[in-house]
Amino acid sequence: MSDTVEKVPTAEASSSSVEASITGENTEPTTTTEKTKWGDVEDDDEEESDAVSELKYLSIKDEEKPESILDEPEDSNIKAVTSGDTPYTSASRFEDLNLSPELMKGLYVEMKFEKPSKIQAISLPMIITPPHKHLIAQAHNGSGKTTCFVLGMLSRVDPSLRQPQALCICPTRELANQNMEVLQKMGKFTGITAEVAVPESNQGVTTARRAPVSAQVVIGTPGTLKKWMAFKKLGLNHLKILVFDEADHMLATDGFRDDSLRIMKDIERVNPNYQVLLFSATFNETVKDFVQRTVKSPNQLFVKREDLALDSVKQYKVVCPKEQDKIEVIKDQIMELGDIGQTIIFVKTKVSASKVHKALAEMGYDVTSVHGSMSQEDRDKIVKEFKDCLTQVLIATDVLARGFDQQRVNLVVNYNMPTKYETGEPDYEVYLHRVGRAGRFGRKGAVFNLLLENGNDKEVMEKIERYFGAQVKEIKSWNSEEEYKGALKEAGLLDE
Ligand code: AMP
Repeated sequence: MSDTVEKVPTAEASSSSVEASITGENTEPTTTTEKTKWGDVEDDDEEESDAVSELKYLSIKDEEKPESILDEPEDSNIKAVTSGDTPYTSASRFEDLNLSPELMKGLYVEMKFEKPSKIQAISLPMIITPPHKHLIAQAHNGSGKTTCFVLGMLSRVDPSLRQPQALCICPTRELANQNMEVLQKMGKFTGITAEVAVPESNQGVTTARRAPVSAQVVIGTPGTLKKWMAFKKLGLNHLKILVFDEADHMLATDGFRDDSLRIMKDIERVNPNYQVLLFSATFNETVKDFVQRTVKSPNQLFVKREDLALDSVKQYKVVCPKEQDKIEVIKDQIMELGDIGQTIIFVKTKVSASKVHKALAEMGYDVTSVHGSMSQEDRDKIVKEFKDCLTQVLIATDVLARGFDQQRVNLVVNYNMPTKYETGEPDYEVYLHRVGRAGRFGRKGAVFNLLLENGNDKEVMEKIERYFGAQVKEIKSWNSEEEYKGALKEAGLLDE
């Protein structure tokens, strides 16, 4: 058995997607939107399911923790609703999961994990135990969801069968690449092969001429996956498990609902007994309801909306008289305050990204920016530099709002508040995901929301506070160094 997870190189011409949409019996009418799909296209510009037969609340007591282990988000009370009569015992140790020695080695030696996080302890038995029921799982940002589905996929693949057996669909190329890295690391000793399916702009062979996929795990974005399927390059006959990362976005009407349903139907046709896993930190009521009607008899894990905000990340708001003052805040109050780790500045459009980038660069700051209109290579390069800590400040549109895992990000700045393109209403889910880029796995973090005096920023902020029942403290004078220092000290990012 080989001792690496092979990443089979992709050879594909630049992105184009074979557009097809279906309306399944559970499909709600879709609205046409121009925005917020982030995967293969450019961006910019309580009621419980009937299938539930058993309801129980699981909360796992923290055992004595070695000093080196970080605290997970508190309030991780995850409400578990199981379907059918399979008993599940939460796994307090990875040993409880009956994993192969190769996978155990990956977890301990490569990942350097010591014990499962709460979401892992609860969800992994549900994923791994026959009859392999579907799972809809919500858990806090940065609490270890990726491991749940990556380990789920790896544990279900038969290494001797050289056919695609597990498929993971993500909204962005960055997330697909990141998940692939985790899979390669975790599965290093298993010999399981994997291939990433994201748009490439290299001069490789076109999809029509490429060889059929033989990798056992495929992780990709919807457009490329659909194209591979349309060209009969991705066989589905042996597919056992389908994962939706950022599932609420993947099944939202203004996300990738049509693509996701199409892929599910295609798999179901040849393989009715496949397992679907849906993971996200957010499931608004509309999407939750749709998902519960679409996926039959799932096990379900949910977190109350009020419990979703991370306690370890302190949130602040600052009212700035003028647009230019936001730049002054970033420059004078944030970047000059010493080593506070890496920072992501979220903006709404590529135009704002360029403006902020230019303003900070002209003042001599070394910043980079990423948005969906950049070439694939540039996007990958900028993200890699940031992940390798070669850059400290990254300006990003919401292509990086979800899932992006960089443990050294301590600070998130909302230069523009997240709002829905069509209505201007707050985008609550995106707000929560942006906040979740800081404070990974219980680390400390801070968020500064920069609000313009005029316009609707203040109203958007108020609505967000109300929605999450969150306390967002105000920095009373936008240019007071003392107040920012105080905030960063309170957040644990500056020494007293
Ligand atoms: P995720 O929410 O999956 O993006 O994970 C957030 C961060 O927590 C990642 O950097 C993981 O490597 C880390 N992590 C996940 N599970 C564990 C674990 N059981 N022990 C320690 N760190 C973990």
